[in-house]
Amino acid sequence: MSARILVVDDILPNVKLLEAKLKNEYYNVLCAYSGAEALEIIKNEKPDMVLLDVMMPEMDGFEVCRRIKNDPETEHIPVVMVTALTDAADRVNGLEAGADDFLTKPLDDVALMARVRSLIRLKMTMDEWRARENTATTLGVIEDIAKDNDKAEPANVLVIEDQEFEAERLIRSIEADGHMVSHAKSGMEALELINHYLFNVIVLSLEIDPDNDEGGLRFLSHLRSNDKARSVPILMVSQNDTQKIARGLEIGAHDYIVRPVDKNELRARLNTQIRRYRFQEKLRANYEVSLSMALTDSLTGLFNRRYLNVHLEKLLNTSGEQRKPVAVLMFDIDHFKAVNDTHGHSVGDEVLKAFSNRIKGRLRSFDILARTGGEEFVAVLVDVSFEKACYIAERLRRSVAEDPFPASVEEGELFITTSIGMVYVGTDVLKVDDVLNRVDKQLYEAKETGRNRAIVDGQGLLAPDDYKEPPRFMMEQGQ
Ligand code: GH3
Ligand code: MG
Ligand code: MG
Repeated sequence: MSARILVVDDILPNVKLLEAKLKNEYYNVLCAYSGAEALEIIKNEKPDMVLLDVMMPEMDGFEVCRRIKNDPETEHIPVVMVTALTDAADRVNGLEAGADDFLTKPLDDVALMARVRSLIRLKMTMDEWRARENTATTLGVIEDIAKDNDKAEPANVLVIEDQEFEAERLIRSIEADGHMVSHAKSGMEALELINHYLFNVIVLSLEIDPDNDEGGLRFLSHLRSNDKARSVPILMVSQNDTQKIARGLEIGAHDYIVRPVDKNELRARLNTQIRRYRFQEKLRANYEVSLSMALTDSLTGLFNRRYLNVHLEKLLNTSGEQRKPVAVLMFDIDHFKAVNDTHGHSVGDEVLKAFSNRIKGRLRSFDILARTGGEEFVAVLVDVSFEKACYIAERLRRSVAEDPFPASVEEGELFITTSIGMVYVGTDVLKVDDVLNRVDKQLYEAKETGRNRAIVDGQGLLAPDDYKEPPRFMMEQGQ
């Protein structure tokens, strides 16, 4: 689907001209002829971008922009102000109203399209993060993002500029806003700093490397493919060279400012980028939290059933050289209901946590342990022989039964036992459900025949006396 752009201007030919240009590039275009009409369309249609005339009767562009940016439903839609004004003070007004950029009439086609493409691309990325976050919020795994970052806190800014006088002016204006500035005089110096520090914004002069007209742009594309700098917004400082600026935006810079740099415009643009970066990072962090919450169990911190299924599916579907032999163990605590009934639910929770920790502590780091039900757990042992898997199963059973678990009861601890079912899959390619059903059967049998025991598919009860000492091959491996 191509992006939808709303063009707002009170003069019909202006609208028509822009409409034609945008349609030529395969954008869908909506049109409005007044501020009020624009707001109505934005509310109902949620366009991907607004090109907004400043000078309009009744409600001017600044006011329209302010309203778009003050409404949580529409604040994320990029607004580009289209204006005949060239006064920096007016640009600052617009940026303070929340505009994402300015274009001056008569419109330069290259600048227009570069700007549109760059803002649309940014919007699409943000939409993707917002959508993921939205799902997570709906599922209740995270809180809605608080909009607490309106006042830009001090940020780390990297200025890449080789002309001393220019650099000093840039740095002074940025520091006046309370930000921390690092200065690099060359691409090499900049990379060195980027490797060591985390920056929130990079201000890049396109005129670095005076012997090479393309120096700044080349370095920009270098930054876009650098792991550490990839997601950091870049504000270009450039001579008034439309072609060059357009290329920079294509390559992935987020914004630009033309020399001679106006102090206030620089600060306004910089703060916009800082806010955007923080918002994006917050969405990302939230998403990662939600992801881990969706896959882990909050009481024990173990993986949940959803994760286990996906992971096991992957393991069991691998064949050939990559395939490692697998054993699946299922645990169910014996008479756990009695723990709850006698000591209360919170003691039950304590036991579940301590039980999880004990089992986990006796598995290797690459084995998987998941809590698949109230007091039911599944362990997946990877790269084990049948003998070793049996030994581990019996050792785990004993490690639960022999030592009590700390709990908030009079004695300070509780003895519990667990029943275990095991299926040794080896390197067979099997379905997850089939394996889990088979393990479940063994577990059921362990319960039926007396509890506190481990039963293995095809082998039956593991007699405790046979597994008292670690087998020699395990001693040799130091396990
Ligand atoms: P069996 O030996 O046959 O497994 O008996 P059991 O009592 O362990 O099994 P049953 O399935 O009858 O009871 C399981 C109990 O586990 C019932 C439920 O209250 C308790 N339970 C499930 N989830 C939790 C939890 O998150 N916290 C606590 N404290 N108890 C839980
Ligand atoms: Mg039980
Ligand atoms: Mg149970």
